[in-house]
Amino acid sequence: MKTNPSNPSRREFLATTTKTGLTVGLLGTAFSDLLAQPLQQVVGTGFTQTPLPYAYTALEPHIDARTMEIHYSKHAAAYASNLRDAAKEEGVDTAQPLEQVLGSISKYSAKMRNNGGGHYNHELFWSILGAPTEGGLPAAEGALLKSLKTSFGSYEAFVSQFETAAKTRFGSGWAWLLVDVSGKLVVSSTPNQDNPLMDIAEVKGTPILGLDVWEHAYYLHYQNRRPDYVTAFWKVVNWKAVADRFAAATT
Ligand code: MN
Repeated sequence: MKTNPSNPSRREFLATTTKTGLTVGLLGTAFSDLLAQPLQQVVGTGFTQTPLPYAYTALEPHIDARTMEIHYSKHAAAYASNLRDAAKEEGVDTAQPLEQVLGSISKYSAKMRNNGGGHYNHELFWSILGAPTEGGLPAAEGALLKSLKTSFGSYEAFVSQFETAAKTRFGSGWAWLLVDVSGKLVVSSTPNQDNPLMDIAEVKGTPILGLDVWEHAYYLHYQNRRPDYVTAFWKVVNWKAVADRFAAATT
């Protein structure tokens, strides 16, 4: 397994977080490097988890620390680990961008599809979250805000469409804001750990914002109230990160 020397391994990461409880102080540099890279490098190499760029407590009270800890260190860690197993079993070079594999996912196993998507989706999810903002909306700025208005009519119309996608996804899955193949911003939703990069996706393109609506993402705090979780999501969206992804996907 390849490791990025600027990225602490998961074992080091867990050791540190165990020592410091829920406070995570080692994060930052690797993540800013990541955001500065072209979009196809978003997940990094080696199919390993990027350290969270904030503490598990950072998204409180909208996403609670316990949920973040279990979600990142158990659920997402398992996708990454199972993805590396699948890569080994199917002779996939883990040095290549994961996006390449996802783009031809129909050629691979269900294990690769579920865990490749699972790893990519969570890496994207952590990267577009951040400390709560007052009111949450409408922090989207500049070219992204302009394009949201062009594509959806208004920022509010986009929010409404995205929330509907998230709330009505039956069972487990994701809601997405993506740049489609014609360069337009669209909202979609995918089941399980599928995503718009996959050749099997109904709506294909480059995701720039995603919301995990699996119960593991919200059940401890919101129980069956998925709509409340979806509404609270806007308070912890890091629009700067989304705008950076939008810029990378449209240039
Ligand atoms: Mn999840």
